[in-house]
Amino acid sequence: MHQGRHFLQIPGPSPVPERVLRAMDMPVIDHRSAEFGELGRIVLEGSQKIFQTKGPVVIFPSSGTGAWEAAIVNTLSPGDKVLMVETGHFATLWRQMAGRFGIEVDFVPGDWRRGADPALIEARLTEDTAQAIKAVMVVHNETSTSRIAEIRAAIDRTGHPALLMVDTISSLGSVDYRHDEWKVDVSVSCSQKGFMLPPGLGFNAISQKALAAAKSNKMPRSYFDWEEMLKPNAKGFFPYTPATNLLYGLREAIAMLLEEGLDNVFARHQRLAAATRAAVNHWGLEVLCQEPSEFSPVLTAVLMPPGHDADQFRKVVLDNYNMSLGSGLSKVAGKVFRIGHLGECNALTLLGALTGVEMGLSVAGVRHRSGGVDVAMKLLEQRPQGNASPHLKVVGT
Ligand code: PLP
Repeated sequence: MHQGRHFLQIPGPSPVPERVLRAMDMPVIDHRSAEFGELGRIVLEGSQKIFQTKGPVVIFPSSGTGAWEAAIVNTLSPGDKVLMVETGHFATLWRQMAGRFGIEVDFVPGDWRRGADPALIEARLTEDTAQAIKAVMVVHNETSTSRIAEIRAAIDRTGHPALLMVDTISSLGSVDYRHDEWKVDVSVSCSQKGFMLPPGLGFNAISQKALAAAKSNKMPRSYFDWEEMLKPNAKGFFPYTPATNLLYGLREAIAMLLEEGLDNVFARHQRLAAATRAAVNHWGLEVLCQEPSEFSPVLTAVLMPPGHDADQFRKVVLDNYNMSLGSGLSKVAGKVFRIGHLGECNALTLLGALTGVEMGLSVAGVRHRSGGVDVAMKLLEQRPQGNASPHLKVVGT
């Protein structure tokens, strides 16, 4: 039996802050009441700030996978062609889903060690003189982070009218993301990562171009229909029973993100990720992502040295230190473990997590150079630049 707090260092669900837990600890209210309408309006407007959009955001009681489905069924028709890039496990699953809806996917193969290449997308769209490609669908963050602003610029250079749909499931609220500025047509996200909530909410941020596509596309849909959702959303309501208490949590989580300031939130994640990579490099282990401009700010996937099973290592860490690390998924199962450093994470929680990894390497007999945690400590010693933490502000001064 372990004492103390469990360290949930997987790349989502991320730990739920006390403030959010307390905010959800409420009686369920009538979802047709004026009180609910006010809550609905606040969370819908607040979500727009996190996606950095002035356009509509819809919130489904679903996991991220449901929000993927909503993006597809509202914009595409069976037989449509789309372009996707194999950046990892989740791009592979989204592609599979598109296939099930009769979408023809040009799936550019990848080795899961880098993000989607803007030049490649540009070349594919340039070749498509008939403009048969209806959408470019990219996962923002897997074990590498794709450069969405550059992908947007690449699409613009071709003048191709394809929609841009982006999975921001593991990046939103942690990594800089600008739905409007990057002219993304559908951004897909969910509650259990940067929003620091339990699983159960799926999000779509929707451009005017995507709304227009939804008016003429031919895919059957019901539960995930945007139009059904947007009508009652105008007054803060939902077409069916919403996940009321998760929405209380969402209101609090959005307040926390805005109090810290999105730029500070993004900088914090970058800083924690850099310290993690420094520790990994010092240990003499290899980060899965090979492209420094695409290192993930929310997770670090570490390759296990030959002769060692990553899942066995994770078990050692869990059994000895009560810490969950993320597993490698499908193609990289047993080959990598992932250290999540997103959401409710700061210098000390990260150093605790890195300490657990370093001790675990010793116990599991994995050859490494000790002292990775010291290297991370040095990097995190100085207080970050930027706005002062709200916790340090003295009331009345
Ligand atoms: N896309 C990405 C990038 C993810 O990280 C995940 C989950 O970890 C998903 C999609 C699937 O989301 P969910 O498990 O909430 O359905």
